[in-house]
Amino acid sequence: MDQEIAEIRRAIRDIPNFPKPGVVFKDITPLLSNGRLFKSTIDLLADRYRSKGVDIVLGIESRGFIIGAALAYRLGAGFCIVRKPGKLPYETHSASYELEYGSDALEVHRDAIPSHARVLIIDDLIATGGTAAAAIALVSQLGGEVVACAFVIELSFLKGREKLKPYEVFSILQYDSE
Ligand code: AMP
Repeated sequence: MDQEIAEIRRAIRDIPNFPKPGVVFKDITPLLSNGRLFKSTIDLLADRYRSKGVDIVLGIESRGFIIGAALAYRLGAGFCIVRKPGKLPYETHSASYELEYGSDALEVHRDAIPSHARVLIIDDLIATGGTAAAAIALVSQLGGEVVACAFVIELSFLKGREKLKPYEVFSILQYDSE
């Protein structure tokens, strides 16, 4: 398993100064295009959550859709999407979160999560944790129960997991610096 995780790490490409100067973007497209490693990534998450009674996997736009939908299929769970404002066609609930400059929001369909459903929140990466914290707020607004937030990549030095307390935070790969 350690070797598998090392291979997943090597498949992630660092793009310095994208989308703006000073940010090192973690590009997962080389990982996704490798069938064996994409499968390993999904299986690592599925193995951890298979026995946790997950009803719904909630994917955060947009890379969370890729990981989350594959994981939902593997778990036999439903899949629900959280999107940027104005993208969802039906009535929505909204939660805003702080960015480095200003704020942004996420939306979910108001009937996306049955009340008391057990929800696993998925994104490709946790940085400051603001995005996942907004997703937690949406699940709570809809009456769902958050099982955990899980990510392929955690930028540990940004301490995003502290924003998600007391919920479980799981990541396959951690980076202690950029
Ligand atoms: P945050 O709300 O700060 O935890 O940011 C997490 C969201 O922004 C996720 O949807 C990520 O896909 C994206 N993101 C933030 N930083 C990076 C990065 N360095 N590389 C790739 N994606 C990132």
